[in-house]
Amino acid sequence: MRRPLIAGNWKMNLGHADALRLADGIFAGIDVPPDRDCAIFPPFTSLQAIAEKLRSSPIKVGGQNCHPDAEGAFTGEIACSMLKAAGASMVILGHSERRHLLGETDAFVNRKVKAALAARLKPILCVGETLAERDAGRTADVVLGQVRRGLDGVATDAMRDVVLAYEPVWAIGTGKTATPAQAQDVHAAIRGELALLFGKPVAEDTLILYGGSVKPSNVDGLMAMPDVDGALVGGASLDEADFHRIVWFETPEG
Ligand code: PEP
Repeated sequence: MRRPLIAGNWKMNLGHADALRLADGIFAGIDVPPDRDCAIFPPFTSLQAIAEKLRSSPIKVGGQNCHPDAEGAFTGEIACSMLKAAGASMVILGHSERRHLLGETDAFVNRKVKAALAARLKPILCVGETLAERDAGRTADVVLGQVRRGLDGVATDAMRDVVLAYEPVWAIGTGKTATPAQAQDVHAAIRGELALLFGKPVAEDTLILYGGSVKPSNVDGLMAMPDVDGALVGGASLDEADFHRIVWFETPEG
């Protein structure tokens, strides 16, 4: 049985005071329904303070990135152990902004996935195609390739701690959302690929989130899809009321 996860990626937004204010608002105002999980991913500068604030709440806290090495001369980077020590339990990896703006490759993302798992941080591995790739009919090819290379060498047992996020690049921060049917098609293909790689039980248990302009107005339709297990939310996670409504998504079964 997969427990839905709603994850808020604050990206490079909010100074420390504003980040604490939003975390306070979420803590006070967002009672997470018992059948689902919720996590927020603040900037590194606020991670520890927010993790301490939310320690007694069901809301988990994670990092937006990590470096695969344990320590060393990697200016500006952060090690998994540092995230853990700051109170993070999850980490977003392979986000399209890092792949496309900062040149991260599948091989580098794969090293991070393995480093996160070794450090007992749950990775959210993001995959997704560009508009040009979709228009060229290459969505499955691109996305499943990212899944295969991102999870290369990950042990079947370790998959219990891995979350996937399908985030079509053309839908991130653009206001364009994949339709529920478009999301379902790709999520089902990812689950099929996971079954080939790790077996059907693992595929059935792995969470696959959708990300890309998720809002209060579209979350219910997306969450009604059988293979959509949650949402990775960027812009709307910065608005307490919108995030609350997304966490409280409603599906036809209730
Ligand atoms: C994201 O940051 O992963 C994301 C999906 O952003 P947005 O919801 O703003 O499109």
